[in-house]
Amino acid sequence: MSDCIFCQIIAGHIPSSKVYEDEEVLAFLDITQVTKGHTLVVPKKHYRNILEMDGQASSALFARIPKIAQQLQKKLDAKGMNIINNNEEAAGQTVFHTHIHLLPRFDEQDGLKIKFETQEPDFTALAQLAQDLYFGG
Ligand code: 5GP
Ligand code: ZN
Repeated sequence: MSDCIFCQIIAGHIPSSKVYEDEEVLAFLDITQVTKGHTLVVPKKHYRNILEMDGQASSALFARIPKIAQQLQKKLDAKGMNIINNNEEAAGQTVFHTHIHLLPRFDEQDGLKIKFETQEPDFTALAQLAQDLYFGG
């Protein structure tokens, strides 16, 4: 897609700091570096996000994540890693070409704060919701 910034990076028309590449996937440093080594892993084929990918395309992308994450962890001596994927504006997606954020973690002051607002569990509501959502395999 010519107006997609990540397609431009994949095509080499816009420079990027590559950390991994193969025939299907490219991984490069996010320009904002929320934590040191913050990396984006993208499929070379354009998809808007996971919500429009099928199992085959997403499997190829996700299959690469462990080895890239493990390399980053080893080389940066990270203590952990958050792996995040935003789909659509409501979920914080700003670039509409599927990408997985790999965020190496070092300590509580490393630049990233993720906080889930938890609620008291309502088991009746959970059971009802699961029943409404269940679709088998
Ligand atoms: P999103 O908010 O869509 O999940 O994440 C998009 C990410 O792409 C942001 O973290 C942003 O910093 C990164 N980004 C946007 N434009 C560029 C670019 O031209 N080069 C690189 N390396 N990262 C970019
Ligand atoms: Zn694209």
